[in-house]
Formats: sequence, structure tokens, C-alpha cells
Amino acid sequence: MRKKIVAGNWKMNTTLEEGVQLAKEVNEALATTEGVKCDVVICVPFTHLAIINQVIDKDRLGLGAENCADHLKGAYTGEVSAPMVASTGANYVILGHSERRQYYGETPEILKTKVNLALEEGLTPIFCIGEVLEQREDGSYLDVVKAQIEESLFDLDAEQFGKIILAYEPVWAIGTGKTATDDQAQEMHAFIRKVIADKYGKEVADNTSILYGGSCKPSNAAQLFAKPDVDGGLIGGASLKCADFMGIVNAF
Ligand code: PEP
Repeated sequence: MRKKIVAGNWKMNTTLEEGVQLAKEVNEALATTEGVKCDVVICVPFTHLAIINQVIDKDRLGLGAENCADHLKGAYTGEVSAPMVASTGANYVILGHSERRQYYGETPEILKTKVNLALEEGLTPIFCIGEVLEQREDGSYLDVVKAQIEESLFDLDAEQFGKIILAYEPVWAIGTGKTATDDQAQEMHAFIRKVIADKYGKEVADNTSILYGGSCKPSNAAQLFAKPDVDGGLIGGASLKCADFMGIVNAF
């Protein structure tokens, strides 16, 4: 059966020193918390990966990058490839975050390439999808999310697809303090699972973890995670404070 997962997305926050400190705190909190019921992952800036990899217990805390390049190697100044990410010891990579799509022009085609390169390196993509407010309001949100999945992921075979974690992140809820209701999240997550089932079959769909992201915090996590198709969360702002992040982890 699919995993329950809480993953932090630190975005462009923390200096190296602050990041190492935060990672140590989360690692320690997990070590001293009884009965953690989900996998826990932190996705951190590239500059922090190799060092954080050395200070956490990877059996209890997974480590991921927030992006990787759409090329394997070569003359792409400033880029960081999937093999480079994997060489730090990281096991996960967030791909398709709405901030990458919006500010860095990441197209479905580019994301398809990134997903393939990440999988080839044994990295687990946490693939983000989600509609903007206008699409929520004009009623096209289900079609939008379906297209995002089809365009970037449906070239994968069932075995490859089985390695993907999905994160439904309504763009209007990211960093805005405005959370999707538990019913809105459940509607979308059930729909996504059906889209997967129609393509890859019920078993693959039932085994796919679908996380919710968008202003998830300790006060609303339990209600969201209680929904049958919500398998955890991708957490931005609230992952930057150990107590808040652990409050979400403990919501299961
Ligand atoms: C995110 O950007 O992945 C996210 C969910 O952010 P926040 O929790 O801050 O809304």
C-alpha cells in the first residue's frame, strides 16, 4: 500500500549554517518522537545537500533537492544535474513546482526530460501539479491538472510511474495562508488517482502517494490528512521551523 509522506520544501531559505542546524533539529526530533507514522523528507538548497547528508540519519529522514537540470552534463553554466544531486546522497528531487513553472519557464516538455533524468539516477521525483486561481474559479481545474500529469508523466511505463510521488499544490494556496479545504483536496486527489488508474491500472494508482501542498500547517494538517486520498503533505513555510514541521508530521 502507498506510503504516507511529509516532505519539506525549504525553497531559497537558510544559509548553510542555518540549514544544517534546522536539519539536525528535525533529525533529533524524529529520533525522540515515538510512533512516527509517515516517511519524512526535507528538500533543501543544492548548496546544503552534501553536508546535510552527513548530519542526518537517512533511515529516519530522507533528503532531496528542489530541482535538477534538464541536461545530464556539459556547458550549462549554473545548472545542477540529476547525477550531481544523486552524488550528494540525496534520494528525492522536487520537479515541476509552480514557482519553477512560473518564474523559470519550465514547460511540460522540459519537466518530462527532468523526470526521466532523475529516474535514471535513482532519484524519486516529487512531481508538483496544480491550478491557478483563475482556473479554480472558471471550473477548468480538473482538466488543467490532468493535462499537467499527461504531458510530463504519461510517457513513463508503469514501473517508472510507480516511482513517482505526486504533490497537488493549488497555486492560489501556496504561501498565501489560504488552504484548500479538505473536501477540495479530496476531490482533486481522488480525481488524480482515477486519471492514474485509467492509464496504468488500479494497482499502480492505489500505490501512488499523492501529497497536498499549499499553506499546510499544524492546525489544518490532521483534517487534510484524514481524507482517504490525501497521503501527506509538501510543506513550504511551515517546514522552516522544526516545531511546526513536526506538528505536521505528528498530524498522522
Ligand atoms: C510549496 O511551495 O511547496 C508550499 C506548499 O508552500 P507553503 O506551504 O508555504 O504554502
